[in-house]
Amino acid sequence: MTFKVVHTFALPGVDLGEELLEPLDATLVKGMWRTADEIISHGRDADAVIGVVSIQPFTRRVLEAFVNCRIIAGIAVGFETVDLAAATDCGIVVTNVPDYCIDEVSGLAITFMLALGQKLLQIDKAVRERQISFTSDRKSLMDVLYPRFRMRGQTLGIVGLGKIGTATALKARGLGMKVIAYDPYVLRAVMESRGVRPVDLDTLLRESDFISLHTPLTPETSNMIGYEEFKKMKPTCYFINTARGGCVDQAALIRAVQEGLIAGAGIDVTVDEPIHADNPLLEMPNVILTGHSAWYSTTSDLELFHKPMTQVIMAQKGQWPLYAVNPDVKEKWLEKWGEKV
Ligand code: NAD
Repeated sequence: MTFKVVHTFALPGVDLGEELLEPLDATLVKGMWRTADEIISHGRDADAVIGVVSIQPFTRRVLEAFVNCRIIAGIAVGFETVDLAAATDCGIVVTNVPDYCIDEVSGLAITFMLALGQKLLQIDKAVRERQISFTSDRKSLMDVLYPRFRMRGQTLGIVGLGKIGTATALKARGLGMKVIAYDPYVLRAVMESRGVRPVDLDTLLRESDFISLHTPLTPETSNMIGYEEFKKMKPTCYFINTARGGCVDQAALIRAVQEGLIAGAGIDVTVDEPIHADNPLLEMPNVILTGHSAWYSTTSDLELFHKPMTQVIMAQKGQWPLYAVNPDVKEKWLEKWGEKV
């Protein structure tokens, strides 16, 4: 019987991996559906559904309507809008794309460090406004650039040494930086094998010249960097957040920059996205804001939309998909759909 794939978030002009379906007896129905009723009406008889499981409503009612479905392949790292317990009850495996932008996000963390540490925005502004040459104008050099430190030998403190934290650490090591990290879930030996010195959070806050946050947002990490943490940082430290806005107490961050507890910040993610027009961060010259763009490159964008189809193909063949996020369904799922060898 023809295998029916329903794509609920088919952006025009984006490669959805359709060519992967060609060798199979499969059909693809695609559209852009936002409400639960629309998704049910198009996906009711699907064998596989692809959608953005961090935005679209894959609620229990929707999942129970998918009577043939074996997989919901998500186009995102996060999967907060799919009812995982309901998916497991319905025997459906849910997948995400956990690894499409490791290079991009770690690259932005390093870009923040270099731009902030080298005072790129301040220099650019001074040259545009006053056509300065810093070799012949010692006063401006001191006014704009002092104190600027050599990157080699500076200490980067990474909170959360997972995929992106590790990629950031390796890039920083390439710049000759010392890297320390706090992550209670990663073995000391593993950290050391990556050229990183494991420390407790207090030591990291006190010793780092740059602090870069790379944890998920969980009850444990919510507001984990607050005013007390900023008070422990060096006044020359730059704070970088490419993880989630909610990991940082935003009022405390604003106060820390205003009071000079830190030298500045590189902020990709904020509590309110888009950032609210009256947010004081918008007025701060020593804060760089990038509006949750860290994940994007032409390559990561391709990978994000292509990889869910690879998960669908695995499920179609009866293979347990690589990026499953509800492993509790595995036994039941393999019994029903698993490849018989
Ligand atoms: P990951 O799961 O590989 O790594 C997260 C690390 O955080 C793990 O090693 C974990 O042990 C650690 N951790 C968990 N709780 C901690 C705690 N209380 N203290 C210290 N460490 C803790 O995830 P990843 O792929 O490296 O991504 C990290 C985060 O980056 C994601 O969760 C996501 O929120 C964010 N992200 C942002 C963008 C963007 O565009 N800005 C894109 C992708 C991911």
